[in-house]
Amino acid sequence: MEKKKKLALHWKILIGMIAGLLAGFLLLQFDGGKQFTYDWIAPWGKIFVNLLKLIAIPLILASLVKGVSDLKDIAKFKTIGLRTIGLYILTTIFAISIGLITVNILQPGAGVSKDTISKLEQTYAGNQKIAQKITVAKQQKTQPKLQFLVDIVPDNIFKAMSSNSNMLQVIFFAIFLGITLILIPEHKAAPLKDIFDSLNEAILKMVDIIMLTAPYAVFALIANVIVGTAGDWELLSSLLKYGFAVILGLSIMLIVYMLMLKFFTGKNPFWFMKQLAPAQLLAFSSSSSAATLPVTMERVEEHIGVDQEVSSFVLPVGATVNMDGTSLYQAVAAVFILQVLWPEGLSFTNQLTIILTALLASIGAAAVPGAGMIMLVIVLEALGFPSEKLPIALALIFAIDRPLDMMRTVINVTGDATVSTIVAKSVGKLHTPKPKNWNDHI
Ligand code: ASP
Repeated sequence: MEKKKKLALHWKILIGMIAGLLAGFLLLQFDGGKQFTYDWIAPWGKIFVNLLKLIAIPLILASLVKGVSDLKDIAKFKTIGLRTIGLYILTTIFAISIGLITVNILQPGAGVSKDTISKLEQTYAGNQKIAQKITVAKQQKTQPKLQFLVDIVPDNIFKAMSSNSNMLQVIFFAIFLGITLILIPEHKAAPLKDIFDSLNEAILKMVDIIMLTAPYAVFALIANVIVGTAGDWELLSSLLKYGFAVILGLSIMLIVYMLMLKFFTGKNPFWFMKQLAPAQLLAFSSSSSAATLPVTMERVEEHIGVDQEVSSFVLPVGATVNMDGTSLYQAVAAVFILQVLWPEGLSFTNQLTIILTALLASIGAAAVPGAGMIMLVIVLEALGFPSEKLPIALALIFAIDRPLDMMRTVINVTGDATVSTIVAKSVGKLHTPKPKNWNDHI
C-alpha cells in the first residue's frame, strides 16, 4: 500500500509561523498575555535557537577539516577561496548600490514630519538598548586598523571554540588543520579524518532531529516577536515608506540571486529556493544567520548538491562576513537618517563613502539579531554625522528594526547559499543531490 504523502517540512514551518503570528495578536488582547508569552512560550523558541547554536561550532570544525583535507590539492582550495571572497565582495557592493538607488528614488525621509520625529525621540532616544548599541559601536571603532586580522588568529583553540562569536577563529584553525592533513602521509591523516567525518555525519543528523521541532519552535519565536513589539505600531506606520524601501531593495536582491543562479549554474532558481526554504524560514524566525548556519549547510549539501569541500568553507565564512541584506539595509537606513535629520550631509561623496563603509560594516557585523544596527553607527560616523544626534538617528528606525532584521537575515542566508552553489559549479563540485529525509531512521 502506498504511504500517505506527508506535508513537507517548510509548509509545516510556515503554518507554525502563521499560528505564532495569530497567537501573538490574540495573547495581546488579554491582561497578562504578554507575561504569559514571556514565561511559557518564548523559552521554547530560545531552546530551539540554543540547540542550533550548540552544534554550529562542532559542525564547522568537523565539516571544514574534512572538506579541506578531502581536496587533496591546496591549489584548489586557493581557487575556491579567491572566488568566494571575490563573489562575496561583488554581491555586497551590488546590494549596497541597490539600496542606495532605492532610497534615492523613493525618498522615504521626505514625508516624516517634525511631530513624528519628536515622538520617536521621546519614545526611544533614552532607550537602554539604543545607548548600548552606540557604546558597542564606539568600542569597535577605537581598535587598531588591523585588529580584525589579529582577531582571526586565536591564541587558544579551546577558548575560541567556547564562544559562537569566535567563528572566524574556529574557521582559521579548521582550515589550518585541514591543510596539514593534506601535507602529512595519507595513512597518518586517515584516522583523524575519519573522526571528523563521523562527527560531521552525527551532527548533520542532529540538525535533522532539531528541525523536526522547528514548526513548534517558530510558533514560539514569532509569538514572542509579536508581543515584544506591541505598542510600537502607531509609530511603525510613520516609518512604512522607509520599511518599504528596505523591503523593495531586498526583493530586488533576491531576483539578482535568482538571475545569477540561472546564468552561472543553469539551475532552476525556483527549485533552488524551494530546497533552501526551511533555512530561509528559520532565518526569518530567528533573525540570526549564525543560528541558521547548520540548517543552511544541511540544505545546501544534501538538497542542492554542493560538495562538502565547497560548502564547508563558503557557508561558515559567509555567515560571518557576507551579509548582503544587512549592507543593503545599512545603505537605506543611513540615507534615510540623513534625509530626515541631516540633509546637509547628503552629498554624492557621502553616498560613495556609504558603499565602502557599509561593505566593511556588514563584514564586521555579528550574525545575530540586531547586529546590523550597531554597525550602522559606524557608517554614520564615517560620514561625519553629528555624534550628539546618534541616539535620535537610531530612535528613528528602532521601531521597525526587528521585522526588517528578519527579512535582511533571509537575504544574508540566501546570498551565502547562492555564492556557494556558483563557486561549486565553477570548480566542478556541484552534483545531483541525494536528499536524506529529516526523519530517516527515526
Ligand atoms: N540579524 C542579521 C544576521 O544574523 C544581522 C543584522 O543585520 O542585524 O544575519
